[in-house]
Amino acid sequence: MSMVERTSTKQTKKLHVLCATPECVPFVKTGGLADVAGALPRALKRLGTRVSVILPKYSAIPWEYVSKMEHIAEFYVPLSWRYEYCGLEKLRYKGVEYYFIDNEHYFKRDGIYGFFDDGERFAFFSKAICEAINYIGELRCDIIHCNDWQTALVPVFLHEFYHEIPSCRNVRVTFTIHNLKFQGQFGDQMIGDVLGLAGKPNAVRQLYIDRESINFMQAGLCYADRITTVSPSYAGEIQMPFYGEGLDGLLRRRSCIVRGILNGIDVELWNPKNDKLIHSRYSIQDLSGKARNKAHLQQELGLDVDPTRPLIALIGRLTAQKGIGLVTYAMNYLMQRGVQVVVLGTGEKEYEDSFRYFAATYPRQVSACITFDNALSHRIYAGADIFLMPSVFEPCGLSQLISMRYGTIPVVRETGGLRDSVIPYNKYTQEGTGFRFCNINADEMTRILMDACELYWTDKKAWTELQKRAMRANFSWSRAAHEYLRVYLQLCPEYTNIYVKR
Ligand code: ADP
Repeated sequence: MSMVERTSTKQTKKLHVLCATPECVPFVKTGGLADVAGALPRALKRLGTRVSVILPKYSAIPWEYVSKMEHIAEFYVPLSWRYEYCGLEKLRYKGVEYYFIDNEHYFKRDGIYGFFDDGERFAFFSKAICEAINYIGELRCDIIHCNDWQTALVPVFLHEFYHEIPSCRNVRVTFTIHNLKFQGQFGDQMIGDVLGLAGKPNAVRQLYIDRESINFMQAGLCYADRITTVSPSYAGEIQMPFYGEGLDGLLRRRSCIVRGILNGIDVELWNPKNDKLIHSRYSIQDLSGKARNKAHLQQELGLDVDPTRPLIALIGRLTAQKGIGLVTYAMNYLMQRGVQVVVLGTGEKEYEDSFRYFAATYPRQVSACITFDNALSHRIYAGADIFLMPSVFEPCGLSQLISMRYGTIPVVRETGGLRDSVIPYNKYTQEGTGFRFCNINADEMTRILMDACELYWTDKKAWTELQKRAMRANFSWSRAAHEYLRVYLQLCPEYTNIYVKR
């Protein structure tokens, strides 16, 4: 479909999207959802929509933002038999309005998640959002865009308690799954005691997953008007038992409203042309700086400073999801082939210790940086030749997008967002932006990895062209924002004439 644009700046009534999220850059971040919630609203705003964001006011939010918040309202939120205080604070930041739900009992804690009452905390958050839409005129919206289990009860509450209220009646809900593994499962005593849904048989039916447990995400997926996830392939995969985490049946039933939209990256932040965190800056027109970054990185990590050795990078959580077991299995063979490997990440102890062992055994070929270091990650993206990402499942994945932007060729397993973002290299047509393998199999991964190394060793011209194609790939947020706008317009067709196709 063609691009969507606003026709006229004179038009006063814009589509209003309220983005409900448990985390958002730059205020609070534990994962990729925070990046999406930080970038998507601004990209949507550039398309001419009105976007507001609502999130909890955690004590982890830096003072530089808290000090600028304006207290705009306070009200009480009904949670079953009691009423809980809720303050509403507002902050305008880079052209977007942010609203913070304030309740110190629930959100003034050392940490964001992982408390015994997380179910109650985010049930309160979801109910407070509904109350805020009801009480606060400027929060009246056309769409609520919910993200992950922490906001999954919003469509349930809206439908069960607010459907007769004019300000809430026409609000439509888009629900985005960022990682289906985390669903918000709790004991069923919450239904009556916290959620106040005991008298609502439909809601009760959608919440239960077994005799005594309920699942917020399951209920949210039942009540949402549109379901999206962060890549088209993951949208298909989660409808199958292997990836479906027990909700594949429900997602198959609702497959006509499920859609995958690939995330973008901040192309200003991740730009080798003006990245201040790397040794030498470079661009598609002049890649010479990349070789200098590699030499500098090899020296910094204590590896042999040798341009002929392919330098393979791994950056990310060292967990089973990321396919790290395949890498540790293949390491001895890779060492015999003379390549170098740099690992930056933390995670399961078994994997951390494996890489420490390989770094001690092959000090001139392996570097294990078992830490979280943003500046070092920039230097690795810029200095490495190949980026390895053999994930078992990957909803979207940002690292492969970043590595392509830096001309570091991704070698990935064909799953989720990896499959959607890396086009396989074809030596006959000279197309593609990386290398892919299919099965969760270390030998298959190694074979494809060595194919990439062969090309690096034997055909410099083809390798450089491959790097340039990878760097040219468009992963900006503007593409994703257009796709989200299309989803919203399906739910609010009355706005379609404002945003024409051309
Ligand atoms: P995840 O499943 O963890 O969200 P993604 O690939 O979507 O994986 O995003 C991971 C992001 O975090 C990337 O931007 C990556 O560069 C960054 N990252 C992960 N681990 C580290 C680390 N140890 N040090 C620095 N950055 C890291």
